[in-house]
Amino acid sequence: MKKAIRKVLVVNSGSSSLKYQLFDMKTEARLAKGLVERIGAGGPANHAEALAKVVADLGELANGIDEIGHRVLHGGEVFKDSAQMTKANMAKAKKLVKFGPLHMPANLGGIEACEKIFKGVPNVGVFDTAFHIATMPDCAGMYAIDPKYCKKYGIRKYGFHGTSHKFITQAAAKFLKKPLAKVNLVTCHLGNGSSLAAIKNGGVVDTTMGLTPLAGLVMGTRCGDIDAAAVLSIMESEKKSPAEMDRILNKESGLQAVGGVKGGDCRDLCAKAAKGDRGAELALEMLAYRTALYIGAYNTIVGGADAIIMTGGIGENSSEVRARIVKRLGALGIKLDPKANKVRGEIAVVSAKGSKIPVVIIPTNEELMIARDTVRVLAK
Ligand code: AMP
Repeated sequence: MKKAIRKVLVVNSGSSSLKYQLFDMKTEARLAKGLVERIGAGGPANHAEALAKVVADLGELANGIDEIGHRVLHGGEVFKDSAQMTKANMAKAKKLVKFGPLHMPANLGGIEACEKIFKGVPNVGVFDTAFHIATMPDCAGMYAIDPKYCKKYGIRKYGFHGTSHKFITQAAAKFLKKPLAKVNLVTCHLGNGSSLAAIKNGGVVDTTMGLTPLAGLVMGTRCGDIDAAAVLSIMESEKKSPAEMDRILNKESGLQAVGGVKGGDCRDLCAKAAKGDRGAELALEMLAYRTALYIGAYNTIVGGADAIIMTGGIGENSSEVRARIVKRLGALGIKLDPKANKVRGEIAVVSAKGSKIPVVIIPTNEELMIARDTVRVLAK
């Protein structure tokens, strides 16, 4: 007899936490969701122990898991799609640890722990870079430096949040009633980390993050785009090592540094700006300015977008930031509907009826995307 449900476990194994969701992929219903924290810091000693806790938490539900999908940070130029993590693919992925020395060992450790605990259940890696690297042309993906650095060290643009951009691209095509292969979009994932993608004919032609998630938009604690010479200048003047400079740019910059708000949290920034704080106001304007700048650029690159899609904690929830962005898009004939823009966390058009390009909120669901990819890859 055929099983009534198809259980897919989605694992996001990070450096100090392990998040999971369990889906029935016959209906895409979520059966369970949870988080194990403080791995190696007072909680479980390693990812295998964390996973044992997941099994205990799941109880009966842990029986009969059919497939497991894993979030993996970096697929380099090797993984242009999600892939079953066979021995050969694990070996290839291990060579990419240099691209994410903090996250990759944790991601791959989660896969190895699943191999041991869920014996015989296939594991699929879903790479955050794959959606971008699959279709991004070299004119967008390469840096204008001697190509030997790309050959020797893989220095090029990869992009991140690929799973989220892919999910909202597919959802947008459905919402717009267009075939995926014909949809042109600018997708905006605005959260603690933020990135935009230019989607032409359903695939990425450019994205704002680069070799690492540091590039592009102004983020919670990341500076985004910056003149590389400015970085060298600070390093020289303040005698900073590469590791110290990395911390400054990734952890001590962005909305936090400009707005004077810990973590650069958007809600706190908006509250502070409303009280007349000039730093918070400037931080919000920087965020909106650079987002609008890239929307304009990417609209050109995709040959005219069918829609601008917004997602992520800020994109889905902050009517204030959305308003600040759209205010700058008048030249594209884009207009906001202030009443519609009050919406939070649901699929909704927030642009006015007469807007030349609709602005649509689509809540992202990376876990479901991972589960869908897992089923697709293993069905091959
Ligand atoms: P994420 O990284 O996608 O979880 O997004 C986190 C960001 O979303 C933080 O800057 C939050 O302040 C912001 N955010 C979450 N909920 C809201 C909300 N209701 N209004 C404004 N910003 C929000």
